[in-house]
Amino acid sequence: MASGTVLIYDEEMTTHKLLWSDPVCDIEVPERLSSSYEQLKCYHLVERCVHVPAREGSEEEILLVHSSEHLKVAKSTQTMNEEELKRVSENYDAFFFHPNTYRCARLAVGATLQLVDSVMSGKGRNGMALVRPPGHHSQRNAANGFCLFNNVAIAAEYAKLKYGLQRILIVDWDVHHGQGTQYIFEEDPSVLYFSWHRYEHQEFWPSLKESDYDAVGLGKGKGFNINLPWNKVGMGNSDYLAAFFHVLLPVAFEFDPELAIVSSGYDSGIGDPEGQMNATPEVFAHLTHFLMQLANGKLCVILEGGYHLKSLAESVCMTVKTLLGDPVPQITGEMAPCLRETRACSFSVGYFGFAFLLR
Ligand SMILES: [Zn+2]
Repeated sequence: MASGTVLIYDEEMTTHKLLWSDPVCDIEVPERLSSSYEQLKCYHLVERCVHVPAREGSEEEILLVHSSEHLKVAKSTQTMNEEELKRVSENYDAFFFHPNTYRCARLAVGATLQLVDSVMSGKGRNGMALVRPPGHHSQRNAANGFCLFNNVAIAAEYAKLKYGLQRILIVDWDVHHGQGTQYIFEEDPSVLYFSWHRYEHQEFWPSLKESDYDAVGLGKGKGFNINLPWNKVGMGNSDYLAAFFHVLLPVAFEFDPELAIVSSGYDSGIGDPEGQMNATPEVFAHLTHFLMQLANGKLCVILEGGYHLKSLAESVCMTVKTLLGDPVPQITGEMAPCLRETRACSFSVGYFGFAFLLR
C-alpha cells in the first residue's frame, strides 16, 4: 500500500492578483497561498511530504469540463492591458483577470491532476495541492466567485477517463456553495457531491434557490447531490461534526467511493470575514481523518477559499498533519450542536438517504 503524503505548491500561482480597486475581490490575495506554505514550513510539515511539481493543465483537460468559448476568452486575456482586463472581468460575477491569470489557472488545474495521478498511481497515499485561482464556482462557460477553471471538477472527469473510476466523492467544506461543481455533476451518478454552505435562506452569495437542501440532483444523478445550507452564521466544531456524522458519512460510506476529493475552502473556519463561522482549525483535522477512511485512503485535498490568513494557514497545517498520519488534536469549545440546525441535519439525512436509495 502506498505511503506518504504528497504536497504540491508552485510559487508562480501567487502572481495572479487584483490590479485595480474592487472591494468584492480584494480578499483573494496571493498571500493566501504563500502564508499557508510558510506555516507548513514553520511546523516542519513541508519536509515530511513527498514533493511533486505542478504542471500546466492541457487544453484538452480543461475542455473536459469547460466550453471552448470559455477557454478562448481566458486565453485571450494574456496579452490584454489593464483596461481590457478590467472590462472582460466585469462580464463575470466576482472575478478579476491579471495577465498571468490564465497561466496560474492552468497550473492550478495541472497541480490538481498531478495530485490525482500521484494518489492513483501509488506515489503517495493522499495529499494536498495549494492552488490559486480556486475552482468550485467556475462553470462550463463562465468564471465566477474568484474561480476561472473548476480544478476539482476537471480532476473528477480526468480520474473517470484515465483510471476508469465509477464512484468519486467530492466533499466541499468551503463556506460558499460550489454551484459550479453542482451544475457540472447534477445529472451524473458517478460523482457524489456534498456541500455545506452559509445560506441564510438565500440571502448569502451566490443566493441561489438551487443551493438549498432540496436540490438533490437531476435525472440519473438524483440522490447524488447533497446540499446542507446553514441558515445562520456562528456554526462551530460540534455543528460541523454533527453534519458529518448525520448527513455526509452515512451516505459516503454507502456510496463507497474509489477516490475522495475535497474542495477545501477554509472560509468556513473561525475569523473568516466571508463565513463568520466559529469552527477552529482543529476541526479540519477531524474532518480529514474521517474522509481518510474512505476510498482506501485515496484522498486529494485541493485548496479553494479562505480569507483570514492566520485561520487559513493553521487549518491547512491541521489538514496536512492529519494526512501525514499524526494523531488528531482534542477539540475544544461548545460540544452540543445547534438544536435547530441539528434538526435540519436529521431531516436531511432522512431525505437524502431516501433519495439515495432510490437510485
Ligand atoms: Zn468560499
